[in-house]
Amino acid sequence: MHNKFDLTGKKILITGGGKGLGFAIAGTMVQHGGEVIITGRNEQQLKEACETIGALCTYHVFDLTDNQSIPAFVEVIEQIHGPVDVLVNNAGINMKKDMMDVTDEEFESVIKTNQSAVFSLSREFAKKMVQRKSGVILLISSMASQYGIPKVIAYTASKSAIEGMTRAMAVELSPLGIRVNCIAPGFIETDMSSKALNGDPERKQKVLSRTPMAKLGKPEDIGYAAVFLSSDAANYITGIVLPVDGGNAIGF
Ligand code: NDP
Repeated sequence: MHNKFDLTGKKILITGGGKGLGFAIAGTMVQHGGEVIITGRNEQQLKEACETIGALCTYHVFDLTDNQSIPAFVEVIEQIHGPVDVLVNNAGINMKKDMMDVTDEEFESVIKTNQSAVFSLSREFAKKMVQRKSGVILLISSMASQYGIPKVIAYTASKSAIEGMTRAMAVELSPLGIRVNCIAPGFIETDMSSKALNGDPERKQKVLSRTPMAKLGKPEDIGYAAVFLSSDAANYITGIVLPVDGGNAIGF
């Protein structure tokens, strides 16, 4: 019997796959038979990630803030690797600062990476996927779009947009054969969360106290959710935001 969770034969592009959640998503996808292409700005990190993950992982250096080059980047990826079945918009940046100290330039820079690049890349891959009447687009939001978190104004704006774009893309693209879904990670152990939590014990305690499972998540917890939503097992799922958070979003 065909295992519907198996990703064999699927090509998966993951932005920001050199470390953190993207690296874990890439590794988990490969464990399930997927062929992954990871992207980021740091070539050495991408190279080492591919060496660790194995032969089903390749990389391309690409800075997502160069949005003029996104259409050409998508062309090159499909010329080299063939049709991409799954796009995982994982790359993101955070900025922890009092709202009143955030400059317009700082605000825009977070929006550019976390929101505008996700739109441009999804649009370009959607044009390809529509021709094939098949494809999956995943987006990554955050607990910052579920409830108010202080000192992350730009990040919150961008991640709230991600959840809105998930629904807006899903209603336009699902009739054309493309499923669009979002994962909302809780607090997961990566460089990004370490920076936000390790120097701020009070914040870390607050996170844990409202997480019913009373622990941070592991990057592979997000990987398994991404495998599921990318696979044929999720064939009738589109437009959802799936919290993977140990219950943080519903915690008291
Ligand atoms: P990391 O900081 O560990 O990794 C971020 C990744 O994004 C890196 O691979 C980085 O690669 C890439 N990236 C950043 N800017 C660019 C750019 N301009 N062009 C290309 N790639 C870029 O973060 P996480 O793994 O923790 O986060 C991954 C995603 O998950 C983000 O969207 C984040 O918002 C989200 N998230 C994380 C949570 C957590 O607890 N960790 C919680 C909720 C959401 P490089 O430096 O090589 O460019």
